[in-house]
Amino acid sequence: MIATSPVSRGGLSTTDVAERRARSGPNVLPEPAPPRLAARVGGQLRDPLILVLLAAMAVTAALRDVADLIVIGLVIVLNTTVGVVQEVRADRAVAALRRLAAPSARVVRDGAEVVLPAADLVPDDLIRVQAGDVVPADATLTEAVRLTVDESALTGESVPVSRSTADELAAGTVVATGRGVAVVVRTGADSALGRIAALVAATPRRSTPLQRRLAGLGRGLAVATVALSLLVLVSGLLRGLPLADMVLAAVSLTVAAVPESLPAVVTVALALGAHRMARRQAIVRRLPAVETLGSVTVIATDKTGTLTEGVMSVERVVLPDGTTRTLTGTGYEPGPVVDRPEVAGLALAMLLCTDADLAAPRGDDGRWTAVGDPMEAALIVAAARCGVPPSTRDTHPRVAEIPFDEARLRMTTVHALPDGGYLVASKGAPERMLTDIRPDMLATARRLGADGYRVLAVAGRRTDRIPDEPERDLDLLGLVALIDPMRAEAGRAVSTITRAGIRLLLVTGDHPATAAAIADRVGLPARRVITGDRLPDGPLPAAHVFARTRPEQKLTIMRALQRDGEVVAMTGDGVNDAPALRAADIGVAMGRSGTEAARQAADLVLADDNLATVAAAVEEGRRIYTNIRRFLAYALSGGLAEVAVMLVGPFLGLAVPLLPAQILWINMLTHGLPGVALGAEPADPSTMDRPPRTPDEAILGDGLARRVLVTGGLITAVALAAAVVADANGRPWQSVLFTVLGLAQLGVALAIRGDGPRNRALDLAVGSSLVLQLAGVWVGPLRSLLGTAWLSPADVALCAVVAAVPGLVTFVLKRRALRDEDQLAA
Ligand code: ADP
Ligand code: MG
Repeated sequence: MIATSPVSRGGLSTTDVAERRARSGPNVLPEPAPPRLAARVGGQLRDPLILVLLAAMAVTAALRDVADLIVIGLVIVLNTTVGVVQEVRADRAVAALRRLAAPSARVVRDGAEVVLPAADLVPDDLIRVQAGDVVPADATLTEAVRLTVDESALTGESVPVSRSTADELAAGTVVATGRGVAVVVRTGADSALGRIAALVAATPRRSTPLQRRLAGLGRGLAVATVALSLLVLVSGLLRGLPLADMVLAAVSLTVAAVPESLPAVVTVALALGAHRMARRQAIVRRLPAVETLGSVTVIATDKTGTLTEGVMSVERVVLPDGTTRTLTGTGYEPGPVVDRPEVAGLALAMLLCTDADLAAPRGDDGRWTAVGDPMEAALIVAAARCGVPPSTRDTHPRVAEIPFDEARLRMTTVHALPDGGYLVASKGAPERMLTDIRPDMLATARRLGADGYRVLAVAGRRTDRIPDEPERDLDLLGLVALIDPMRAEAGRAVSTITRAGIRLLLVTGDHPATAAAIADRVGLPARRVITGDRLPDGPLPAAHVFARTRPEQKLTIMRALQRDGEVVAMTGDGVNDAPALRAADIGVAMGRSGTEAARQAADLVLADDNLATVAAAVEEGRRIYTNIRRFLAYALSGGLAEVAVMLVGPFLGLAVPLLPAQILWINMLTHGLPGVALGAEPADPSTMDRPPRTPDEAILGDGLARRVLVTGGLITAVALAAAVVADANGRPWQSVLFTVLGLAQLGVALAIRGDGPRNRALDLAVGSSLVLQLAGVWVGPLRSLLGTAWLSPADVALCAVVAAVPGLVTFVLKRRALRDEDQLAA
């Protein structure tokens, strides 16, 4: 089959691709069509609260109460519209995220290796896979070196199986070790992934913990409100009021008191939050991560690429005789060349024992880039600068190899020499390689590490035949010291995270000396460094730096933290990091340098591989949580006041405090517009100056429930007081009550807004609600619809003064609470 395919080692040409693409379509699974508008509207109308309203419409129709019929109809239309619009916005945001997190593939096209979106693959494409890649399409191997594949995605069996030439790789499986070259045979829905897609599509979309908790809260409130409404109904009947009126009053009360826009507010806050995070280079792969991010208490980060640039270069080499050479030049351009005969042996081994490649500048930035591991790319560059160009690989073909392995921390290759002999080249962690061959060089390696260098030992040997045990009897060729410049923003990111009360851990596979040097430079306490083999079984020591940790030890560290009740965000990039990423509360993968397997296991992908981006995502998560609590404070206190007014009013001589239409009108104006706008409040400037909230804190915890009671009580008090005074003075007390109740809630919305940049949406929402509220007493047709009376401007002014009280008190209390917290923090 491979023989008949037109594929040469150069891969498909652009025209081949276009032709095949027209036949096979893109390499993606067909998406389920988004729900139709009618289905969405239907979903909204099935909401229990709307059903109650529909029932109320039937009652009003039976009573021929046209005014109430119209108002209830309006509420239903508005609620449904807001609900559908929000749902569509949320879906769009999520779809955009999915496109951002799309998988990529390494493919050979027109003779050059490129990284493309996996969706672009066509049958007959020549792909390369290596440890950490997720196989992008079904493909037949034409070359395989110690290739093992984790097929658990298809079979559930997690022990990697070995695959060799002519075997088929299934889309969606993960390359565990080794590397290979393969020809794509099936893409998209025809591939193995397509066959399990039905399974994937069947898994229902899970709601987030917060959504579930709020749904619980909503149900509790609904039951409480129905009970209270029944109370209103019964007490009204006992006072001899007509049944029909009281049924309607009770029903509208139920609907008014429950924050029916709550699910919409939460969903939109999460989805739009994820969208904003994407603009800050943090791509959320699972929506619940948005809210978890806000409660992160520990961030465990690795070093390469997150704290450092991940752009390496060899700065020094130490030869076996102990003398040092300093190389010049940075970046990945394989020059300028300085002939160094004494380094030639080391340089040859450095070049041959690599899998990475250099890519010549494309586009206008004129920069060479690394393809594959940046450290290996740096070795290739250094070899070239010492006079051994990359083309030397062609005359020294690889005939055997032991690929890099995170447990052994070394890699070895065997090459056929032009003269018929063989050359073994090996590189890896100095303490693993030097102990046998040159223990006297260990101290030199440690010193280089303490200077912040990443140090590799390189060894080699000439043989007459391909050795069975290539790593035996090697001679040291030299030590290589690589620098990886610190990211400019690393220090700031570390202090932001520390200031936000989050414990930052550096967990790296690198040497303790290098780890400590880097930690020190970014301002992390580095006096105590724990190495992976010294990890205790019990609680984690109070250190900040963990070095020479293997991926499975990351899991140990995280489990220990989680047992202590911490909420852990952990970064990872390798295929073996996937289990730790999945187990973390927030698994963070690298968008640029990490493996596809890590990315697909993660909750959050950093498009810029930058630790500062995690801090930005945490800030966004905290903002969203605060806004949801803000909305609750607002909606619940308003609902509480509406119920309380109806319950207490009659005892103050106000027989029917508000008509159903009036309750619904207030409810529509207050909860609808400002409620949704509160979800868009920007972050308070002090968001990252406070400690994270306690992980198990209730959504109404930390004094929020009390604040709801105080604010709700105040609104009730001023509304009733105004009505009683109006009644005593012969003014239309019901309309006064209606006006004060509405205005007071708008005042509260303004009082609980954040300290960040002004949120125009809230200004606009409060402004239009204000206009509509006043229209309720000033516009003739609305007056007859709502059963209100005209109020003089003087009356309205008095109402406004009284209605300002709850907002002002709430504002002062909020100030005081913030000040106390700051004092606590200081
Ligand atoms: P980090 O935590 O900085 O990402 P890594 O896990 O990438 O560290 O690497 C850990 C150690 O493994 C390195 O310090 C180095 O000694 C060794 N190592 C990494 N990559 C290779 C490789 N391609 N060949 C040989 N040794 C390697
Ligand atoms: Mg690494």
